Amino acid sequence: MPRDTPLREPVTAYVALGANLGDAARTVRDALNALAHTPAVRLVQASSLYRTAPIESSGPDYINAVAEVSTPLTAPALLAALQAIEDAAGRERPYRNAPRTLDLDLLLYGSARIDSPALTVPHPRMMQRAFVLVPLHEIAPGRVTPKALAGVSGQAIQRF
Ligand code: ADP
Ligand code: MG
Repeated sequence: MPRDTPLREPVTAYVALGANLGDAARTVRDALNALAHTPAVRLVQASSLYRTAPIESSGPDYINAVAEVSTPLTAPALLAALQAIEDAAGRERPYRNAPRTLDLDLLLYGSARIDSPALTVPHPRMMQRAFVLVPLHEIAPGRVTPKALAGVSGQAIQRF
């Protein structure tokens, strides 16, 4: 059958989830569920939930996790889908790094390097954050070097 747009090959991407307001663990679990039910997004695996103290932010501890997805969506389309899940969780953006109901960040999109005003991939701060590297290492050890993990070993993080 003729097609206007060729089917795109699915890409493996990694998404960081974080929440620190209200029932944060529930919010993260609901977000994983929402991700699994997003059209054109397959949830391949999710890390354990972790508890971390806020960095450059305030409020109660965070609950963090990382998900692996497989999707034919472009990176901007995937980001839009993530933002729709944030919005559905009632996120407001009063200022940068404000305590948030739910934060979804696109960490890696295949091996792509993207540097546009709305999207930077790999996520520019992921290498400095134990709450990203520890759960990412749990599900994709090949994507986190021992050196990177050692670099964040001073940051407190525990399994929830
Ligand atoms: P942060 O996650 O840095 O605490 P926000 O979630 O408020 O802050 O994101 C602010 C903006 O960051 C978003 O509007 C989005 O366009 C942009 N952004 C750039 N790169 C990424 C990325 N890799 N993942 C998620 N958002 C990104
Ligand atoms: Mg974000």
